[in-house]
Amino acid sequence: MTETAKPVAITACRSYEQEKIDAAVGRLLDRLGGLGGTDGPGDSIGQESWGTRICAGMRVALKPNLVMGKDPAAAVTTHPALVEAVAKAVIAAGATPFIIDSPGGPSGNAAGLAMVYKRTGMVAVAERLGIEISVDTREVEVALTDRSPLRRVSILQALREADAIINLPKIKTHAQTGYTGAVKNLYGAIPGMRKAEYHFRVQERKPFGELLVELNLALRPALTIMDGVIGMEGDGPTAGDPKPFGYLLASRCPFTLDHYALSLIAIKEIEMDRVARARGLVGPLVLLDDGESIEPTPFRPASHRQVNFVENYLPPFLARALSRSLRPLPAFDREKCIGCRICLQSCPADALQMEGIPQLDKDRCIGCLCCQEMCPERAVDVRQTGLSRLLFGSRR
Ligand code: SF4
Ligand code: SF4
Repeated sequence: MTETAKPVAITACRSYEQEKIDAAVGRLLDRLGGLGGTDGPGDSIGQESWGTRICAGMRVALKPNLVMGKDPAAAVTTHPALVEAVAKAVIAAGATPFIIDSPGGPSGNAAGLAMVYKRTGMVAVAERLGIEISVDTREVEVALTDRSPLRRVSILQALREADAIINLPKIKTHAQTGYTGAVKNLYGAIPGMRKAEYHFRVQERKPFGELLVELNLALRPALTIMDGVIGMEGDGPTAGDPKPFGYLLASRCPFTLDHYALSLIAIKEIEMDRVARARGLVGPLVLLDDGESIEPTPFRPASHRQVNFVENYLPPFLARALSRSLRPLPAFDREKCIGCRICLQSCPADALQMEGIPQLDKDRCIGCLCCQEMCPERAVDVRQTGLSRLLFGSRR
């Protein structure tokens, strides 16, 4: 593979005031040569024909992270000011933007989607700009290569049919994968409950990292612009704490963008990043910044990060046995639980039953933490198994 440089643009932005976000997005696009303009330095990803340019007449999918129907102030979802700024840039290029995502769990149906779009501020953006929001939940299969643990996956048909995708993730730590940014955000292309199904079919971290990388290679976003004004640390993607970071980042290469973002927030050992590096998809980085020093901001990792050295350094049979004994297990808080049953509907392993509050069948649980991710009340904590505490100490 050619060592083609991968530009990542970064700009300081400490407020979601619309004018400031508009200006920051403008700076990023200028540095990358615009949405449809000439390339920045070495602007491609290896030999692959990445980075579709946005041209007049195109239908452009804006794919924010809308994992749950939360107010933007909760820092769970991509801020609507960023979606609005990018939509305006797409309109200025003569193209037609539309907003599309598929939250996990039962919110993936049309009624759930409408609620999520409203609560996350997307409906207001769409109304202000007169653009479409997709509640189309039809699926289409895409083929992945034999590097992927799944050779075919279902994704949203409306996303597949777009002429280009602009990926709009939020920077967050993540209880299951350690981190969610550019690469992980495209897991949201998989419709609602299918996400849980694939979690069940691909339970180990390493193959799941391969699946995420393959999904990005199949969908080939034209551009990624990351919301890093306020990220999330701790037990993301939904139960962590807002963390001011103060930057927007953009690149045509999601792998290099994530790798650089991870270095800024000091989060290590992320499987999707390791897979991308091993496949030669990361860098060499060309940083396009404001000309001022970038201030790293260490993020607190998720409290019970699944350990991945087991998969990477032990023989597969031993790794499989140990992974099961080390998996994090959910614990349900009686005081916070409102009995909504969303966790039961989101569980891919059918490991929960309602008896006042959810009760866990440990033998069935695969430790995917979909229940924690989808709980609207932050009523799901995660506890280590005895073996995990013995080997690694308490991670609290
Ligand atoms: S734990 Fe959360 S998702 Fe599950 S029933 Fe309680 S409130 Fe709902
Ligand atoms: S109960 Fe276990 S298998 Fe079910 S969603 Fe929670 S962590 Fe995943």
